[in-house]
Amino acid sequence: MPRSLDPQLKRALAERMRFYRELGIYDFYRRESARPNPYEIPQPEQREEMTPAPRIAVAIPIEEEDLFAPTKPEAGVTDPARALRLIREDLGDCTRCRLHKQGRKQIVFGVGSPKAELMFIGEAPGADEDEQGEPFVGRAGQLLNNMIKAMGIRREDVYIANVLKCRPPNNRTPERDECDTCSPFLLRQIAVINPKVVVALGAIAAKTLLAINASMAELRGHWYDFRGTRLAVTYHPAFLLRDPRQKKEAWKDLQMVMQELGLPVPGKTSD
Ligand code: URA
Repeated sequence: MPRSLDPQLKRALAERMRFYRELGIYDFYRRESARPNPYEIPQPEQREEMTPAPRIAVAIPIEEEDLFAPTKPEAGVTDPARALRLIREDLGDCTRCRLHKQGRKQIVFGVGSPKAELMFIGEAPGADEDEQGEPFVGRAGQLLNNMIKAMGIRREDVYIANVLKCRPPNNRTPERDECDTCSPFLLRQIAVINPKVVVALGAIAAKTLLAINASMAELRGHWYDFRGTRLAVTYHPAFLLRDPRQKKEAWKDLQMVMQELGLPVPGKTSD
């Protein structure tokens, strides 16, 4: 963005930024207008033809700090537990999208260690999570727990959150605008925790964080640079419950993560 903006445009932008700030949205990204909609499900015949996914996140932060210096409540807070509490307070009893009036019982913010080296990001709370206020506590959560245990770590040592903090009715797929409204809070959680590795569970988490449209086959098996943090993509545990044959593929993804974190990988000698 050029430094010398037309004063009228600058005023209009400042007003728009204030408006978003009131909504609790602080992070802004520039997307190329020609970019395909990441939430568009590709037709099967298109999948083969898609260009390979770029290996870096394409979300480009606008230097809004320089322009209008909006301050997040957690800015300058060095204790990540406190910073997370401030983000939670900022989220409040959120009514920013339609989900607050579509039957959600409570907001499901996130759970785990504020100093986690590893973060798992899912899609949205389901019925059990909505009931208990904690991500991944239902059947998919039990499988995620087993995956975490198989990596040789404990659930309480990682941090688990979702793109959406509210349950979509009947567990339907999140809408694009819901992800756009809610994900800034997730990005702030990631920034505060500053993990070594983020694992996106499933296509919605991967596409939201990376802002790219690609199939799971293309997304898996690579490292991405997500704002300086390593990001890997694997299957969503709910998908693995439906198609358990893919568990061995997911295990390959997790082994890649284990290696990155310096955890012992069965059958691999460390050099
Ligand atoms: N599926 C998700 O994506 N998140 C949860 O918290 C539970 C199920």
